[in-house]
Amino acid sequence: MSSMNGNRDIIQEISVDCPGSGLFGRPRVSVLGVGFDAVTAEESIARALEIIGGDGEKSYVVTPNPEIVWMARRIGALRDAINSAGIVLADGIGIILAGKILKTPMPEKIPGIDFASALLGRMASSGRSVYLLGAKPGVAEKAAENLMKSYPELRIAGAADGYFTDDAPVIERINAARPDVLLVCLGAPKQELWMSENLEKLDVRLCAGLGGSLDVFAGEVKRAPAFFRKLELEWFYRLITDPRRIKRMIKLPLFLISAALSKKSK
Ligand code: UDP
Repeated sequence: MSSMNGNRDIIQEISVDCPGSGLFGRPRVSVLGVGFDAVTAEESIARALEIIGGDGEKSYVVTPNPEIVWMARRIGALRDAINSAGIVLADGIGIILAGKILKTPMPEKIPGIDFASALLGRMASSGRSVYLLGAKPGVAEKAAENLMKSYPELRIAGAADGYFTDDAPVIERINAARPDVLLVCLGAPKQELWMSENLEKLDVRLCAGLGGSLDVFAGEVKRAPAFFRKLELEWFYRLITDPRRIKRMIKLPLFLISAALSKKSK
């Protein structure tokens, strides 16, 4: 009985579909009420660079994975923050599978860390600057050091940890540094809510919410070896190297079942 009610809840939520419109001039793919831009990695980078170099509206990028979509079912403010983003990228094979189940396939998965690396590489060649916000004290600075080695022409406008209680001084420091791009690596849902709440106050053309990316750039967390990535098993590698993630990952099958159910209800 309770599972039937659960299904009805899901179906009701899906019918309140509000996937936003985004910056690509094409309809978004709705996965459980979260709208994804059906774009390639190259298209997403090109669009981000246009925003950085243009004088149009400021914007932010989010890269939801199934866990975040699942969270957005319960936290309306998170779903709104994601759907209000200018660019919403499919982070992970789970989102790609859901797109296939829903018969609205997306061209490819774009993990946040891949988007960040490609964007920073291209920003370096055009002399753009980035501010790194997030992770534990010292990590953003270490990430900055490593990024300067990888991209000597990249300008690092500043770095600060993500464990602050008062937004105002943080925003003041970011604005004083005048970066072109702000990486907001506070984890979900904090980073999405923070960007949507503070975009107006930030003197930055583009923000990007990128979870644990600074930990990876700093060398604190290793990415899955190519073997796992090739077989679409990056999630499995993260699970065996950090078994505490099981609680988060257990939601993946639920997510796919719900996506399948939502298709039936359409
Ligand atoms: N984090 C932060 N402030 C907070 C909570 C988390 O800066 O209040 C950071 C945390 O230190 C880590 C990142 O946010 O660097 C979240 O990483 P996680 O691997 O959980 O994110 P994912 O990439 O899985 O979304």
